[in-house]
Amino acid sequence: MFYTGAPQNTKRERLNNNLTIRAYDLMKKHDIDIKNVVVHAPYIINLANRNNTSNYDFAVSFLRQEIKRCEELGISKIILHPGSHVGFGIDVGIKNIIDGLNDVINPNQLVFICLETMSGKGSECGSNFDELKRIIDGVKYNDKLLVCLDTCHLHDAGYDISDFDNVLKEFDEIIGLSKLGCLHINDSKNEQGSKKDRHANIGLGQIGFGNLINVIYHPLLIDVPKILETPYVEEEGKKDKVYPPYKWEIKMIKEKRFDQHLLDNIRGS
Ligand code: FE
Ligand code: FE
Ligand code: ZN
Repeated sequence: MFYTGAPQNTKRERLNNNLTIRAYDLMKKHDIDIKNVVVHAPYIINLANRNNTSNYDFAVSFLRQEIKRCEELGISKIILHPGSHVGFGIDVGIKNIIDGLNDVINPNQLVFICLETMSGKGSECGSNFDELKRIIDGVKYNDKLLVCLDTCHLHDAGYDISDFDNVLKEFDEIIGLSKLGCLHINDSKNEQGSKKDRHANIGLGQIGFGNLINVIYHPLLIDVPKILETPYVEEEGKKDKVYPPYKWEIKMIKEKRFDQHLLDNIRGS
């Protein structure tokens, strides 16, 4: 997964063919299929809030451009946070998201928009399958919509990841497994139902290593791309030296064995 610019803002450069070719070469070298590469839309895009017309119009036009960028790059999925209703209530939020997606999606686009399940922090819409289903049902070309399940968000929203078969069963009954486009694999710093949305490294949070391994290797999810969004770790308590944990986490995932030392070595105290 990557962002087409900084995740926190909407400044975007024109596509650079040289960089794209280098990225394709690197993916080939590391056996990463473009089919499994997704783009995440910036966090500040909020289709649920229509109080400021110019912000809303900007969000719609940004997403249209993001779809074009992805088509040019050969990327088939964009992850989108459905949005926050900012106090106007879940029904207003969901209606705005539906209208927004209807403004954004064109029937000929080659890119799917994956609505991410949210933790329910603040006034976030889409923290349970029913809300996502309402959004999907309201969108005209909803064959262009998929869902991204985020394990930290599900857990924080109240779902029990230790009974993931049941979570998937509920997802299948309400939305349908064929609509599952992507998984975000994160542990959570907080307890189930906390509505906090603070990601933890694999095995270092309240979901736990074994439960995440069950999700990653679930037989129904073999073909669904899985992405780590775990926090960077500090080296020996040096706040200025932080490292991506992915190399170590992927090793543990491949070996299906939790190794405290791997993370301790770089995490410090
Ligand atoms: Fe996200
Ligand atoms: Fe996520
Ligand atoms: Zn999150």
